[in-house]
Amino acid sequence: MKILVINAGSSSLKYQLIDMQDEKVLAKGVCERIGIDGHFTHKTDDGKWEFDVAMPDHTAAFEQVKLALTKGEGKVIDNLSEVSAIGHRVVQGGSKYDRSVLLTDEVIADIKAFASLAPLHNPAHVQGFTAATAAFGPDIPQVAVFDTAFHQTMPEKAFMFGVPYEYYEKYDVRRYGFHGTSHRYVTDRCLKLLGKVEGTRIITCHLGNGSSIAAVKDGKVIDTTMGMTPLDGFLMGTRCGAIDPSVVTFLMEKENLTPAQMDAVMNKKSGMQGISGVSSDDRDIAAAVKEGNPRAKLAWDMRSYQIIKYVAGYVAALGGLDAIVFTAGIGENSSALRAEILEGLAFLGVKVDAEANAQRGEEKEITTPDSAVRGFVIPTNEELVIARDTRDLVEG
Ligand code: AMP
Repeated sequence: MKILVINAGSSSLKYQLIDMQDEKVLAKGVCERIGIDGHFTHKTDDGKWEFDVAMPDHTAAFEQVKLALTKGEGKVIDNLSEVSAIGHRVVQGGSKYDRSVLLTDEVIADIKAFASLAPLHNPAHVQGFTAATAAFGPDIPQVAVFDTAFHQTMPEKAFMFGVPYEYYEKYDVRRYGFHGTSHRYVTDRCLKLLGKVEGTRIITCHLGNGSSIAAVKDGKVIDTTMGMTPLDGFLMGTRCGAIDPSVVTFLMEKENLTPAQMDAVMNKKSGMQGISGVSSDDRDIAAAVKEGNPRAKLAWDMRSYQIIKYVAGYVAALGGLDAIVFTAGIGENSSALRAEILEGLAFLGVKVDAEANAQRGEEKEITTPDSAVRGFVIPTNEELVIARDTRDLVEG
């Protein structure tokens, strides 16, 4: 069975075609700058093809994907009918969806209704469903895999915000949490490495351009750092994370900013970029720290401090800690940040294995055998989770 995994954004569409027999990625790529000038990239084991091509909308982008999969040098299938099902990443599933579901009219209507909570993402996903149906026909099964679903086990005391209760009732204002598919993948792997589920207390750190941490008890999330939107938590590439809420109203008044402008400041101009003035990319920040740039160092130190505070808080919430997992672009690659976080947890009896921690990008235990808590690097694979859920739902 071959499954196409789709991640549709407002101006981009990422895809992977996975053969479920051996879970091998046959092809992957991305349509970028949809509705602008259009850029297309397609990769297989045999090579990489990249070119500019106008893609006025998502349907046009799907046409390029279809062509790349079935024709020319990058072709991996003879006919589109070889694709059995399509799995879509969906950012916001509200309080209703605690697992992946087959796309029906009712599910699509719900995803549209949740757009007020994810205005940049959910409408783009709906465009992705429509374009997929146009390209593959109405009979191909399609599945929605929600970023929020894995966090739905959080208790009320963790997901409610201290604003009047009526806003929860009227507008569903609450913590949802994101990166759930990634937290779920690394949690499953970590539980396998621990050899049990019941009685386990783990913390999963998804550290990428967007970052979040989850506290997981008995395999179920009890708290996570991202909130109603992916802005909450700690310093990210360009996002501020949690700040005193009064800073928002204060700056809006002082700088005469509209809600949309303030939103852009917090989402696009803050975080590592905003503090360092260097870059949102962690490699640039690390290089600037090495060169002695004081603001890059401040951004780096702020993030480490905030992460350690969250992790230590979650240890209390979990009543102890068995394992901590690092994943995503920074978590998988930055041994310096991992070491700093683990050293910040030395009071718990955490002992870093410096040699193991120096490795990059592969599954690895990075603490010593006598460490009181086990530390792991586990490369995430959200597309594989989406493909597996899609297969499971299609096979009933
Ligand atoms: P993601 O959002 O998961 O793709 O992660 C993107 C982040 O990972 C960027 O900030 C990159 O700088 C960072 N990253 C990727 N490769 C490395 C590396 N080798 N060392 C440090 N950071 C890296």
